[in-house]
Amino acid sequence: MTGDRLPAAAGMRAALNARVAKIFDHASDTRSLFLSLTSGKHLRFIPGQFISIAIPLGDETRSRPYSIASDPEDRGPFEICFNRVEGGRGVGWMFERRVGDTIDFSGPFGAFTIDRAPAAEAGFIAEATAIAPIRPMLKRALASSSREAAPPKIHLIYAAPDREHILYAAELGELARTAPNFSYQTVIAPAEKIYDRLSELAQARWVIGDADRTRQFYICGVGKGVIRLRDLLRGAGYERRAVHYEQW
Ligand SMILES: Cc1cc2nc3c(=O)[nH]c(=O)nc-3n(C[C@H](O)[C@H](O)[C@H](O)COP(=O)(O)OP(=O)(O)OC[C@H]3O[C@@H](n4cnc5c(N)ncnc54)[C@H](O)[C@@H]3O)c2cc1C
Repeated sequence: MTGDRLPAAAGMRAALNARVAKIFDHASDTRSLFLSLTSGKHLRFIPGQFISIAIPLGDETRSRPYSIASDPEDRGPFEICFNRVEGGRGVGWMFERRVGDTIDFSGPFGAFTIDRAPAAEAGFIAEATAIAPIRPMLKRALASSSREAAPPKIHLIYAAPDREHILYAAELGELARTAPNFSYQTVIAPAEKIYDRLSELAQARWVIGDADRTRQFYICGVGKGVIRLRDLLRGAGYERRAVHYEQW
């Protein structure tokens, strides 16, 4: 479910076909597929959007959304990143794909996006694989804000059950080193405590520790914890439309 409405025409997009060009394992249960359109064209999308993959499950075909983890500017294959889910048959099929296999999908879809620097200071919150849409959003926000005289600050709080599931760590470290307006913190907490920790940190930083209610927020994660974070920030006086979220 996404927190923002999908474009009305979303469901009418034509089916596309991509070939698996490369596989990268971040961890034993977390993988990226790099996909090239079989048409040879480049997939155009806005940072934060997802594709809907057609997954054959028994007699039926189900579609499952996967966020695009790479940048629209990247030439070559685009990336999706996913993790195993207990009892998850759809993602089980995704793990069976091999280099050279083809995948049917439609999209890109979704309004949980950023196409330019946020107008005000922005907070990003993600857990584990849900950094996937946030990664290109952050990079777009930082690239376009670097042209401004006083770029808005951008802070990421990124949680995972262990260090191995903090994805793209080297890249995030490099961004924090080179972009003066970007900072980030990681949180390691047991899976069942992740949203407690994220809520405490969001509360300390943006509810108690900050009086300016013009901040923008982008939250992505799995389950009801995302809604808890959304409600915490909206309840603290941030505008409804300033708290963007995507719940998997
Ligand atoms: C807009 C959108 C974008 C998404 N992008 C991604 C992505 O980039 N990478 C990705 O791994 N998943 C993503 N998902 C989730 C993905 O579509 C599937 O739901 C997930 O892979 C499990 O599918 P399944 O068919 O195996 O199990 P399902 O039967 O569909 O799901 C089983 C349960 O797992 C939960 N779940 C969903 N995703 C995860 C997860 N990553 N980790 C743990 N539990 C989960 C669901 O809430 C559900 O309760 C996205 C979902 C949405 C709505």
